[in-house]
Amino acid sequence: ALTAHVNDQNKRRRQILNEFLDLKGNIRVFCRVKPLDSKNLRAPVASDTRNVIIKLTETKRKTYSFDTVFQPDSSQDDVFLEIEPVIKSVIDGYNACIFAYGQTGTGKTFTMEGLPESPGIVPRAIKGLFRQIEESNHMFVIKFSMLEIYMGNLRDLLVSQGTKPIDPIPPSLLIHTDAKGEVDIDNLVTLKVNDFNEVFKLYKLGCRNRATAFTNSNSASSRSHCMIRVSITCRGAPERRREKNKIWLVDLGGSERVLKTRATGRRFDEGKAINLSLSALGDVISSLQRKNAHIPYRNSKLTQVLKDSLGQDSKTLMLVHISPKEDDLCETICSLNFATRAKNIHLGQDESKE
Ligand code: ADP
Repeated sequence: ALTAHVNDQNKRRRQILNEFLDLKGNIRVFCRVKPLDSKNLRAPVASDTRNVIIKLTETKRKTYSFDTVFQPDSSQDDVFLEIEPVIKSVIDGYNACIFAYGQTGTGKTFTMEGLPESPGIVPRAIKGLFRQIEESNHMFVIKFSMLEIYMGNLRDLLVSQGTKPIDPIPPSLLIHTDAKGEVDIDNLVTLKVNDFNEVFKLYKLGCRNRATAFTNSNSASSRSHCMIRVSITCRGAPERRREKNKIWLVDLGGSERVLKTRATGRRFDEGKAINLSLSALGDVISSLQRKNAHIPYRNSKLTQVLKDSLGQDSKTLMLVHISPKEDDLCETICSLNFATRAKNIHLGQDESKE
């Protein structure tokens, strides 16, 4: 029975990989529905493996369709099974980008970082990369960086490495694009790593640095975007494989609309900065999906940093998180609308013709 299960899993992985590599536009949008805090609550959100159904009134329903919908009882294993092909494509030389999007509290950090007993995408992806490198016949050099974008400024989260003291607010960094179109960030700490444990230590340091910049550490994730970059150089790269490529793993700041949160002062400015950069990201993704001649990368630091990892032959995966609660319905609909805009436009047109 175990062999049959493993065979089934391998078959599903191959199928997902092929679907992923074939996909027009190379942007996939998944949705994850958070479990209800209490079983007794009535939720206006229902879902199956491809659709989220919103009950707007007693008689009116709206259905949103996605490449995959993770149900409230989906496990971290279920999520990673669908993500794994991206890791494979990184080993094959593609740039990739995985985003967690959604209102604060819907499980973005749970999906990306996870809990010690139930690790998320970041630790699994890094383990997966090292495993695949071991299995390959090529020499790879792996480098790790971690930063956040706060109020439109980049902060290096590994800046306390070496003998330097921890600086809660690292200086703003400059982004530049070289002649080959590769984006880099001036003076961003980029450390060579040899195994998963080395990366994990740096990742924990980055998470600690992120929290120390805020008086209330729990709120870091709603106030800034957290970005991890794993850069890969393949020595003696086989033909057709780029020598250098990278994957970005991004836990986006909370998408709740700042005007609705009644935040004031600094919190209002932080929310506004996040809203602006998320809408810039949405504009870039939908311009890419529409194959527009002009892609508005320059409208935010977030999209400037990701310029060479979105579009072209890069693999992009957007994981939109929603809450099933009645109280969150407005934000849930906003997130679903954002996700729908990010979806492959060709699929949308085909659907509307049916
Ligand atoms: P966000 O990063 O979007 O603000 P969190 O990841 O911090 O949200 O999630 C808020 C809380 O809900 C955390 O305690 C987290 O462990 C829990 N949670 C989120 N998603 C799930 C899930 N799918 N299953 C179990 N617990 C979850």
